Amino acid sequence: RRENDDRIQRAEALLRSAIETIDEAFAIYDTDGKLVFCNEKFRRLYDDAAPLVVPGVTFEALLRAELANGHYPQAFGQEEVWIQARFAARQSGASHWLQTLQDGRILRNVERKSAEGFMVEFRVDVTELQLARERADAGSLAKGRFLAAMSHEIRTPMNGIVGMTDLALATTSDRERRDYLGMAKASANALLDVINDILDFSKIEADKLSIHCVPLDIRSCADSVLSMLSFQASSKGVRLHIDIDDGVPQSVLGDPGRLRQVLINLIGNAVKFTAQGEVVLQLTAEPAGVHAAGAKVSIGCAVQDTGIGIAEDKLGQIFEEFSQADNSITRQFGGTGLGLAISSRLVSLMGGKLAVQSQLGIGSTFYFALPMTVADPAADLPVVKPPAAEDHETTLHAHRALKVLVAEDHLINQQLAIHLLGRLGHTCTLAENGQLAIDELVTGNDFDVVLMDMQMPVMDGLEATRQIRLWEASLGRQPITIIAVTANAMPEDRELCLNAGMNHYLSKPIQASDLAAKLSAIKLSNGARPLPN
Ligand code: ADP
Repeated sequence: RRENDDRIQRAEALLRSAIETIDEAFAIYDTDGKLVFCNEKFRRLYDDAAPLVVPGVTFEALLRAELANGHYPQAFGQEEVWIQARFAARQSGASHWLQTLQDGRILRNVERKSAEGFMVEFRVDVTELQLARERADAGSLAKGRFLAAMSHEIRTPMNGIVGMTDLALATTSDRERRDYLGMAKASANALLDVINDILDFSKIEADKLSIHCVPLDIRSCADSVLSMLSFQASSKGVRLHIDIDDGVPQSVLGDPGRLRQVLINLIGNAVKFTAQGEVVLQLTAEPAGVHAAGAKVSIGCAVQDTGIGIAEDKLGQIFEEFSQADNSITRQFGGTGLGLAISSRLVSLMGGKLAVQSQLGIGSTFYFALPMTVADPAADLPVVKPPAAEDHETTLHAHRALKVLVAEDHLINQQLAIHLLGRLGHTCTLAENGQLAIDELVTGNDFDVVLMDMQMPVMDGLEATRQIRLWEASLGRQPITIIAVTANAMPEDRELCLNAGMNHYLSKPIQASDLAAKLSAIKLSNGARPLPN
């Protein structure tokens, strides 16, 4: 028996010394919540309550002592409620939480219930880890801001390039020159696509991208993508077609813009990497059959091509950002390697998973399935309404001339505005910053509309708009239409403009047709002037 006792004592001593040597603070409580054992590191965590930390002390007594010593700032003012919540979490037998000690150290506390009902507690010092994480978060935020700023800087001159090319195209009949200009415009648009991709990616990274849920006509969404890419396919001799199961409902709830973006990317890639044969978009519905409105259905999308295929060892990488299956791809086909990374994240934000099957030299199939709800096709689909009859009289048509005040500091964009507006038959007055725009309005020039840049020296567009609205209100004047023209492409910028009192929003590069549409929708406050012929 003595030998047995010795063995038990040695085993216990070994266990205690093992627990003393670990880096974490460790404690174990019995079924009555009384401390059975803890290591020195646990005791040292509570310098100010160290004498209390002896076997037999209850968990509650220790908790209250810590609370009194200010180790749980989050409990301040609601101590009893907090203690109850702490007990409830502990009862679950698998809780963990972060605790910031008064000296600034951050502990990750873990509680686990043993098979015998004892409570085992670890406290791990994660101060360094937490600080590193905060630094990384701040870095990622700075990266997002940098990308948004860069995108703005790139869009401003791009506005000049796209706009001037448009103007040159519209004024040239020489075929060779039109070809060159067409190519310049296509390159400018390709550059814009890259900027949009990078912006999208940084938004996804910063968890800023949200998915809408509106009635969506899958067939017309797919059709529009196909017709957009059909020229590219047919000019290579690649057949592009669509195959839709009967069971695919006409209308579901989803995000048309994002679905379109994913399809454009997958079908665009399929066409890009296929020299001959075909590209098929296949849409299926699970379960099969007719679906009533409100039913849950899984919509499968597969894009199959007979292109160059992807080597098996590269399949895992292509969904990573800035990654391409082969370095020679960039030289041959261009691209940033961002498209699939964005598509795959968009698909998962919509509740699916983008996957691929491919065989080198034979072709590839990219596929995903999205959980969706069937919408009522009659009631829910947004109807594109023709302009209402009563609007006709008051709406400005292209044959009315507008007096436009353009607040813009960038020289080439000023020139672009003068030319674009001139071609649309409107007159244009320039103001180089927000303050000068206000001066123009206050000195009594009656304008019909203001095109307001956001970032300008002296006074920016937001501040100028706020002041204009105040000035109008103080005189009881009819508010003038202000259209924000901005290179900031984030949705929150749009909100900023509208909150400042602007009526509409155009993002750079301005397309002549968008500007014409916005201007033609403006109701004249001062009477329309007919256009000189
Ligand atoms: P990008 O096309 O801009 O390079 P993506 O992220 O869209 O970027 O695609 C990443 C890579 O995946 C491509 O560079 C190519 O190597 C490979 N890939 C994508 N789609 C296909 C396809 N349909 N056939 C063959 N390879 C493809």
